Amino acid sequence: MCDLLRRIVESQGYTVVVSPTAASAKAAFAAAFPHLVLMDWMLPDMDGLELSKAFRASERGKYLTILMISGKDSPEDIATAIAAGVNYFMAKPVERKVLDIWLSAASQQVRDCLQREKDDQALTKVQEELEDNNLQLEEALSRANAMAMEAEQAYIEINQIFKTVAGGIILVDTHCNLLRCNDSFLKMAGVKREKVHNQKCYEIFHSCLCNTEDCPLQRIKKGEKRIESEIEREGLNGKAAYFSIISTPFKGPSRDLIGVVEHITDITERVKAERALVESERRYKELSLVDELTRLFNKRYFNTQLQLEVERANRHGHSLSLLLLDIDNFKHHNDTYGHADGDRVLARLGQVIAESLRVNDVPCRYGGEEFTIILPETSGEQATVVAERVRTRFAGEIFQPIPKETVRKTVSIGVTQYRAGESVQSLLERADQNMYEAKQGGKNRYVLK
Ligand code: GH3
Ligand code: MG
Ligand code: MG
Repeated sequence: MCDLLRRIVESQGYTVVVSPTAASAKAAFAAAFPHLVLMDWMLPDMDGLELSKAFRASERGKYLTILMISGKDSPEDIATAIAAGVNYFMAKPVERKVLDIWLSAASQQVRDCLQREKDDQALTKVQEELEDNNLQLEEALSRANAMAMEAEQAYIEINQIFKTVAGGIILVDTHCNLLRCNDSFLKMAGVKREKVHNQKCYEIFHSCLCNTEDCPLQRIKKGEKRIESEIEREGLNGKAAYFSIISTPFKGPSRDLIGVVEHITDITERVKAERALVESERRYKELSLVDELTRLFNKRYFNTQLQLEVERANRHGHSLSLLLLDIDNFKHHNDTYGHADGDRVLARLGQVIAESLRVNDVPCRYGGEEFTIILPETSGEQATVVAERVRTRFAGEIFQPIPKETVRKTVSIGVTQYRAGESVQSLLERADQNMYEAKQGGKNRYVLK
């Protein structure tokens, strides 16, 4: 019977494995994954329906076609067999023709199952791919979310800095359009936020740099990286106000220049304080009695002191002399070695004079490279001793304005004694005249008259 069935089934194009028991059928099923099972109900080692259920429950059970041949053939039996997973049922004895009909019907189902299996596999593959895509999409989405959160946090922080920073901040594009500004800037400029829309920076905050080549934006466009400027403009109270501006390039994500970022600070108070300091220094100098460079008395002090000494000489009939010194060829020294070196010569002469006098003598820097010395209770003759001392000592001084070059300087001195009753003016004029004569006489000498 088995052989007969095998031949019939093989003639339909199947490869057939014959199993005499349920156990061997299970092993053959596991090894070969058949598409069609032809089985009896009554098996030597197992109930055929149990075997059918086991096959159905296996992994490939749903693509399986089961054909049962049995002696039991009541409608209840057939129903039980169908419930146990059997597709086609044939009563024994099986007629060849009937078997062929069932087999061809089963073959159709086998083909359908094969197709279904293929479709299911393709579907599974698509589903897997879809799941994989979903996973990737979810990951990308969560990354994007994290980035969006970071960006939002950065935006919040920047906004906070923008709002709370001391001083104004503006973003200006390369065409001077004011893109953004903070409240501090609006306050500085004295404008309302709605007024800055579509405005140029120079319309809102004009300064002396606007429309010149010193405009920070123009300089940044030429490649500068950081510009610090100080400007003066009319403040909100109508008085001059001063601002410090730090300008840096404003770049886009691809490092292209969008414009300029400017940080503006009101430095009016600082500038005012600095100016007050300069003014007070100037006033202090004015009040001061000492010439800064030479450490001798200044002209102001000289004038009052000479007046006093003249009055004293008149009152007590004491002698009083005056020396007027002028450095020889000093302009040439300045022109050759520079003004700063000229200053060093002046300071040295101040030292020489100070070291050559008595305590009552009053050495002064009269102006420029001219010096005076008031010599109380000193006759003209005695004054020439002082004049000669200063002259020779100064002539002995060696200057080295540039390496390997030494220079000596000299002075010409007008010496004169006060004449009772004469004015300060005439005393001074005579000293000047004598100094002039010393120059005429060849310089580096004194003249007493
Ligand atoms: P002379 O021998 O006839 O006096 O000629 P001179 O070149 O000394 O005189 P002149 O009056 O032509 O020039 C005086 C120079 O003194 C000119 C000026 O630049 C210089 N001078 C005046 N005050 C100062 C100063 O404070 N520092 C320096 N370095 N130079 C000064
Ligand atoms: Mg002079
Ligand atoms: Mg001179």
